[in-house]
Amino acid sequence: MDEARQREVTGRFAPSPTGELHLGNLRTALVAWLSARSQGGRFIVRMEDLDRLTSSQQCADNQLAALRWLGLDWDGPVVRQSQRFARYDRAIDELEGNDLTYPCFCTRKEIAAAATAPNGGAERPYPGTCRRLSAAARLAREASGRHPALRLAATRPTGEFVDVVHGPYSGWIDDVVLRRNDGVAAYNLAVVVDDEAQGITEIVRGDDLLSSTPRQILLGELLGMSKQRYMHVPLVLGHDGHRLAKRHGDVTAAAMSRAGTSPSQLVGLLAHSLGLTSASTPISAVDLLSSFDPATIIRTPWTFDDERRSSDAHL
Ligand code: GLU
Repeated sequence: MDEARQREVTGRFAPSPTGELHLGNLRTALVAWLSARSQGGRFIVRMEDLDRLTSSQQCADNQLAALRWLGLDWDGPVVRQSQRFARYDRAIDELEGNDLTYPCFCTRKEIAAAATAPNGGAERPYPGTCRRLSAAARLAREASGRHPALRLAATRPTGEFVDVVHGPYSGWIDDVVLRRNDGVAAYNLAVVVDDEAQGITEIVRGDDLLSSTPRQILLGELLGMSKQRYMHVPLVLGHDGHRLAKRHGDVTAAAMSRAGTSPSQLVGLLAHSLGLTSASTPISAVDLLSSFDPATIIRTPWTFDDERRSSDAHL
């Protein structure tokens, strides 16, 4: 039996409190909750508020209210990443102690200019410029006063895993940033440390993060952490084919609630969009538990057409 199965099933939803939760976030949260709870597992919420400039307590409160409104509950206190810097520092110290890090002086602009985008995608692996610096060149950069970021010296260039929704996936592993040049722990490091510390056995999140997963798996391995199961939920697009956002209309839980949509109507719509039910009829999250089967989740993005929805008898 693998390690993930021996531990109690624990799922999580980990939003960044930088705005209201919209249909796409709520769809992911619903899947995360259904998966954990349908296995009799624990479910936690973690606020990924590393970035103090864009995160706020007000947003966090609104997001939690939206989850409650949708009928999703969680166990224990909501953990905030901004309170956990000491843990991230310890993990970075461990990697540093094992000679698995190096300072990176590159600016975003330099990285963009040097990086080649595989498949023409937006995801540009870091080309390792500062890993190859001579000692003299490193000293010269240090002397220039530029604050370096700290990167992982990745021990392999690619990685594979099997995603519950998307099946086998392989992707690049570049030298991820562990600590940003402003001293704050980076997302990939914090996520890996927290998922381990919180005993997470399954990671359910948007499939925009599929390409981060091989990197996070390697980071977890290098830190001697347990393995997890991954489920990446396809994104929701607006009628123009772009990722759902405020400009697409009343797409937040708060706005939909104000417009008279009930939680069970929204859960019904989301469940149907995921392929979990045969029709978009109102249903509560709890009532979806007994039939939840992640194998039925549709792998392609869902386009939310607000105009068509208005003429739908159910909403
Ligand atoms: N905080 C990330 C987001 O809101 C999710 C990270 C994760 O689930 O690993 O997109």
